[in-house]
Amino acid sequence: MWKVDCRVKTVFTDKRTFVTSTAAGYFALLAIVAAIVFAVAVEAGKGYATNGSKMILLSTAIIEQEHTTLAGQWENVRMRVTAYCPCAKCCGEYADGVTASAHEIEPGDAFVAADSRYAFGTEMVVPGYNTNRPVKVLDRGGAIKGSRLDVFFATHQEALEWGVRNIDVKVLRN
Ligand SMILES: [Zn+2]
Repeated sequence: MWKVDCRVKTVFTDKRTFVTSTAAGYFALLAIVAAIVFAVAVEAGKGYATNGSKMILLSTAIIEQEHTTLAGQWENVRMRVTAYCPCAKCCGEYADGVTASAHEIEPGDAFVAADSRYAFGTEMVVPGYNTNRPVKVLDRGGAIKGSRLDVFFATHQEALEWGVRNIDVKVLRN
């Protein structure tokens, strides 16, 4: 008699185990499907734009566009950018630590020398200089005409390390 009972119990246990494992499997599958749907939706929402040869996220492109056009002020200008320091080699033997705009050079200064078509105080962002933060035009230079720019460094060594770079400079138009 107890043998039959035992068999019934076993069947019952097996069935429960089966039901439980099926439910767990179902939820696991549901979670995987939900994850895939979410990932696809996120990817679809991103969108991409091309910037030259680079593939960039559309969100980045929009920010850059605002920076250059929507504000109506920042303009990209390709320039040949060299560097200088206050030394006699860079500024001649009468170097006095005062720029053409009468700015007295201070420790930690960051500014540029540009052509007179850019008024003193004009803001520029020179990639790789002053951690890409805007700097002002505070100086002129005999060789700095047209699309030429000279970025200022405290030491001659830093100026040498900069070298010559043909890069797009952002100019804030007044
Ligand atoms: Zn120098």
